[in-house]
Amino acid sequence: MIKKEKNAERVERKQNRIDAGLMSDVYPHVSSMVIKMNYYHKGCDDSYMQRTINFYPSSAAYFFMECMKSECTNGGFDLAPAVSKMAKKRLPSGSGELHCRGNGGPGHVRVDFSISAKYSKK
Ligand SMILES: [Zn+2]
Repeated sequence: MIKKEKNAERVERKQNRIDAGLMSDVYPHVSSMVIKMNYYHKGCDDSYMQRTINFYPSSAAYFFMECMKSECTNGGFDLAPAVSKMAKKRLPSGSGELHCRGNGGPGHVRVDFSISAKYSKK
């Protein structure tokens, strides 16, 4: 059952990714962006996973990161607000923390993230 839900989510996200458009359309002034994420289990200070995601003008402007807990559905981390705030102000870097709101249990996974961005001159 959970597997089925996960698959449905995956299909939906694939579509969302397409709908999000390209970086060059959404953030034409961003020449590159790097998002680094550390994943933590609840109550644990050592991250169990790191991810680095690079964005280029040809990348999808999609900043919703999946919760990696396999039993968790409807979870994930939306970095879009942080990205859009940064891009609007042309900030070179930003960071923050997010908790998964999926049904894997309250606060079961936490991420902290840092974003760095380069902007074109114009
Ligand atoms: Zn989760």
